[in-house]
Amino acid sequence: MKYADLHIHTYYSDSTFSPEEVMAAAHKKGLAAIAICDHDCVDGIGPSEELTSSLGIEVIPGVELTIEKEDAEIHILGYCIDWKDEEFRKKMKILQDARVERIHRMVEKLEAEGIPVKADEIFKLAGKGTVGRLHVARAVLNTGKIKNFKEIFGRYIGFLKPCYVSNVRFTPKEAMGAILKVGGVPVLAHPQTMGKDEYIPELIECGLRGIEVYHTDHKQSQEEHYKEIAERYGLLVTGGSDCHGMGKGRVLIGTVRVPYELVEKLKEESAKISDEYR
Ligand code: AMP
Ligand code: ZN
Ligand code: FE
Ligand code: FE
Repeated sequence: MKYADLHIHTYYSDSTFSPEEVMAAAHKKGLAAIAICDHDCVDGIGPSEELTSSLGIEVIPGVELTIEKEDAEIHILGYCIDWKDEEFRKKMKILQDARVERIHRMVEKLEAEGIPVKADEIFKLAGKGTVGRLHVARAVLNTGKIKNFKEIFGRYIGFLKPCYVSNVRFTPKEAMGAILKVGGVPVLAHPQTMGKDEYIPELIECGLRGIEVYHTDHKQSQEEHYKEIAERYGLLVTGGSDCHGMGKGRVLIGTVRVPYELVEKLKEESAKISDEYR
């Protein structure tokens, strides 16, 4: 059986792993395919693809975009995107630049809460590509003021917590539209994070085609629940580990994987979307 882990980050967003380390780890796990899905960035895809022929691992080009509602944070994965598209890359650049500004505002808020964290240190941790809250959390840990990620997110930087700052807000139409326009298949990431199933019909109206049923943070009962939702709405089923290298404490790649047939379904859907939207 061939397997794929369809949700992997690189150090072009908030993983600690380079594309080379990601591909080596995928090889060790015997995966046939992985999807590189960095937040607001596609720069990790090319360097990963360079290792496809030597390691025999297919790279599905992906991205993870954020949508915000007043009461929900929604992550949308885009699969099989034309990641070289200039206009799409420009959109990612706008989001990346806005993220820098956002970090300065989060640093101010953290300082006001008595947590003296330096923007420069966060940018250094982030390195290439996008900077995000996982880098903020690591910098806060380094101050020694707070002992673990759970508390940092739970008390300060989690969605709608006192030091949380939104990035440029994408509506569902904008996020899904950007993905569809480059032939990508929009998929709702870790739906339990959004926690609001009632938004799913609206997302489908805006172009959603799939749902990440299998994810590191999903319990079996949640998998069953989202599988049922996928069937009800005719959505594709995907799954992945959401590996962030050591960024979330342990290496997750390959711990969640799906049969390779699901990759074929994504490709078929991408071909249909390309016919319709390009
Ligand atoms: P950002 O794109 O900057 O908003 O940050 C998103 C990153 O923060 C992703 O890697 C998420 O998994 C992580 N994240 C968001 N909320 C939490 C949380 N409550 N606990 C741990 N990680 C979180
Ligand atoms: Zn992340
Ligand atoms: Fe996510
Ligand atoms: Fe992710």
